[in-house]
Amino acid sequence: MNKIDLSIHRALNQAVKSLPGKTARLDAELLLANILNKPRSYLYTWPEQHLSQDQHQSFLIAINHRAAGKPIAYLTGHREFWSMDLRVTPEVLIPRPETELLVEVALKQLPETYCKVADLGTGSGAIALALANERPNWSIIGTDISTAALDIARNNANTLNLDTLEFSVSDWYRDLPDRDYQLIISNPPYIANQDPHLNRGDVRFEPPMALKSGADGLQDLRQLISGASRYLRSRGWLMLEHGY
Ligand code: GLN
Repeated sequence: MNKIDLSIHRALNQAVKSLPGKTARLDAELLLANILNKPRSYLYTWPEQHLSQDQHQSFLIAINHRAAGKPIAYLTGHREFWSMDLRVTPEVLIPRPETELLVEVALKQLPETYCKVADLGTGSGAIALALANERPNWSIIGTDISTAALDIARNNANTLNLDTLEFSVSDWYRDLPDRDYQLIISNPPYIANQDPHLNRGDVRFEPPMALKSGADGLQDLRQLISGASRYLRSRGWLMLEHGY
């Protein structure tokens, strides 16, 4: 029988060689740490520790997927947002650090006292969950047209014990309950259908529905903006992320 050296150290070095780009080592470490269910520091503390056949096999599969461009977040099933560990699958957009700005602005502009909030197109629930985490006294609903996305969002709320949140299906305002929100917040799709950016990097693997918005990328923003006044109370806020 061939004796294969499956030490953490060797496995990592081999993997790095088959990954393209500047993040090869980081990627390999994140994937291996996830398979071992340990923090990345473990890989440096125990470099001589051997992997089981199963662990090594899982690692090779993950590395192949990564070499084909699949996003790390979909391979590990996790992404951090607002210091919360969120579950993500290819059904939802991968939460972006820049979207934390939307959360920051909302926390700054709205009073700390009771507020009624709708996060439209909630996806993994990132924005709604961050707000619920900071303002447990707020009433927050997250909506999405995708029931698969809502399952992920509910799952995240359960894991994080954020039980003040509600999630329901709606195509933007169509089935949104109530019309007296202090805040309507959204990170909608805003990339033009033919934007070459869609053929590069992680976005190739993300749900097109969460990214693309008509020929000029503004279709959903237009709908969100034109409908808002009917669903906001007076002096309410509409907060949207957009591209350039
Ligand atoms: N900012 C993201 C990107 O350019 C897109 C997110 C979105 O469409 N809401 O990859």
